Amino acid sequence: MRKESSLLTRLSESATLAMARISRELKEAGHDVISLSLGEPDFDTPDFIKAAANRAIAENYTHYPPVNGYAEVREAISRKFKRDNNLDYSPEQIVLSTGAKQSLANLALALVNPGEEVLLPAPYWVSYSEIVKVAGGVPKVIPTTIEHDFKLTPDQLEAAITDRTRMMIYSSPCNPSGSVYSQAELEAIAVVLKKHPGIIVVSDEIYELINFEGQNASMASVDGMYDRTITVNGVSKGFAMTGWRLGYIGAPEWIAIACSKIQGQFTSAPCGISQMAAKAAVEADSDSVAYMKEAFLKRRDLVVDGLSKIQDLKVNVPKGAFYIFPDCSKYFGRKAGDRVIKDATDLCSYILETEYVALVTGDAFGDPNCFRISYAASEAELNEAIKRIARALEKIQ
Ligand code: PMP
Ligand code: GLU
Repeated sequence: MRKESSLLTRLSESATLAMARISRELKEAGHDVISLSLGEPDFDTPDFIKAAANRAIAENYTHYPPVNGYAEVREAISRKFKRDNNLDYSPEQIVLSTGAKQSLANLALALVNPGEEVLLPAPYWVSYSEIVKVAGGVPKVIPTTIEHDFKLTPDQLEAAITDRTRMMIYSSPCNPSGSVYSQAELEAIAVVLKKHPGIIVVSDEIYELINFEGQNASMASVDGMYDRTITVNGVSKGFAMTGWRLGYIGAPEWIAIACSKIQGQFTSAPCGISQMAAKAAVEADSDSVAYMKEAFLKRRDLVVDGLSKIQDLKVNVPKGAFYIFPDCSKYFGRKAGDRVIKDATDLCSYILETEYVALVTGDAFGDPNCFRISYAASEAELNEAIKRIARALEKIQ
């Protein structure tokens, strides 16, 4: 008998991966699709990283590695944390995983009990809410507004905390808004958190190297927060290594041990060859990949400029990552021909079906007023996509 678990019925498919799949299918059917749905750098992995992976194969890094990762790689990441974030994480406080996605899953499974609440300032990255559900936790969404640059205020945080709150997860630079918290903003949030010592903070810094403002601020560096913060990072975004599947955490040692225990029963260590490639990546000067950040910044300006000309879209100026998250709520309840655009999901379907541009609805990120564009695409594709989006929106009366 076909009978799925009750967990499966509560879980949504990843909307980002679903849109990527639909656009692939449309392309295969011969349509001229521009896919701005998947958050993945359009650059290839730099050659010096590939060379390190080739050396790792030749040197037989092909056996089971220790569950938390090779010591030499964790040592390199420990040095990276000190160099880039002024954070002291010993190699024992670092756990390597099969992508930051698995790092996040380990954390939820290791720290959240069924029924406990996890605060997710919205918009949040799609998988946070589902990973929390897998662990039996309850996602508690805190909406923010485009007027406040999609950032959480201390008052909003205070109002959302209950005696069941266990964790808060946020990303900065943020997927999907591109917003970046300053050190001062993190300090203001920490004032509230310090009144509630049972809450653990997960600071997802995977877009650290794609920050147009300067140095990324880390919650773990805020006075009094180090012992209850986990810093999540990885090589997917900053080094164009999405397919290598390598993420990591720096955490209090008891949390690192807990995550290793979980991981040891699911996947063991991440691929040893990917680990050695990641070692080369984190040891390199960040200048070696600055060309990608510069390209993303140019594209950010192009996209902000193009979308700002569309009267009924409200556009934020992202300070990092490679996403923009326009508010499209002025179109809701209006019609394109016979078709009523009820919400952002309808709007994304309408744009995909009529102009073949794949976007992701804001619903997936906990903000139903917006949609997400991943601008990790060529300038030619972005220019064409903006033209098509504008044409589709113009037809909405
Ligand atoms: N966090 C955020 C905010 C992301 O956008 C992503 C991208 N998928 C991840 C974590 C996971 O990245 P990965 O598993 O590729 O390391
Ligand atoms: N993080 C990327 C995104 O948000 C990759 C897709 C995924 O892993 O869900 O699109």
